[in-house]
Amino acid sequence: MTRDPVRIALVLPDLLGTYGDRGNVMVLAQRLKWRGIDSEAVTVLSSAQEVPESCDVYMIGGGEDVAQVAAVNFLRRGGGLQRAVSRGAPVLGICGGLQVLGTGFVTGDGDEHEGLGLVDAWTEPGAGRAIGEVTEHATLGAVGMLTGFENHLGRTVLGEHAQPLGRVTRGTGNGHDGVEGAVSGHVVCTYLHGPVLARNPQLADLLLEWAIGEPLEPLPDPPELRALRTQRTRLHVRERK
Ligand code: GLN
Repeated sequence: MTRDPVRIALVLPDLLGTYGDRGNVMVLAQRLKWRGIDSEAVTVLSSAQEVPESCDVYMIGGGEDVAQVAAVNFLRRGGGLQRAVSRGAPVLGICGGLQVLGTGFVTGDGDEHEGLGLVDAWTEPGAGRAIGEVTEHATLGAVGMLTGFENHLGRTVLGEHAQPLGRVTRGTGNGHDGVEGAVSGHVVCTYLHGPVLARNPQLADLLLEWAIGEPLEPLPDPPELRALRTQRTRLHVRERK
């Protein structure tokens, strides 16, 4: 059976692209390729009219406060992302992307900004930046253990319509209730950089299965990820000297 290439949207990397989260697009494309499925990366810059609503999966990275506000204004104007979400398209929002997709956020200067409201999560600045490795047990079915690197000032409280992405075993995460991230339907938000999908291919495959609407054949994990998945080993982080 031939199928159209899976369209992977990278949303506003010129605003929310500080932390290399565009690598998540490469991971999705490669995991499809290994299964003989073509994909097409669709980069949506802030000079575009709007986000095309016809893509199969959407990636939004992290960034600075000012860039987040510009991103909300852009996304609110066009409405393409919101329409894609309402037809069930999966979205991954990382860090600043989480805050943009949430109900609202207070920036470091104390100003309050409305978010897109695609996930029930409200963010305010914490006492200091949360920086370092994170491990957590995902709340989503087969995803298991997640790892990543956090670097954020914001602390996020979930409302009753969102579930956390995971229960934190190391690191700060949302900074409330021992949890990390926010999930609502097929909108998955996390503070984990890494890029997160390179470190957690099982999450990449979940997003892809939602995107194409069918199960994917499993791929073997590299040994270091297999060790993490079994949870028999602790995460070893080699500090740079
Ligand atoms: N500006 C946000 C914060 O510090 C997001 C940072 C990020 O995307 N890493 O909370």
